[in-house]
Amino acid sequence: MSPRPKGLEKQLKNALPLIPLFKMPELSGKLLKVLACPKCKGNLKYEKAKSRLLCKKCRLAYRVEEGIPIMLVEEAEKI
Ligand SMILES: [Zn+2]
Repeated sequence: MSPRPKGLEKQLKNALPLIPLFKMPELSGKLLKVLACPKCKGNLKYEKAKSRLLCKKCRLAYRVEEGIPIMLVEEAEKI
């Protein structure tokens, strides 16, 4: 029997960027709403042509590698 996980919702939210969401087009819209900019916690916009997530507020682009968004400010590209 496993102990009841604490803050399951938070854990799931943290795990979401690990899910290759853009391979699941029917889910990506919903998951995109859950994903937030790690810097400002604002909404991100998916730029399909370049496979990256944009935060217009921070002017940063988070790249998506094999469907997995790299949600790190230090890895983000300035736009
Ligand atoms: Zn931001």
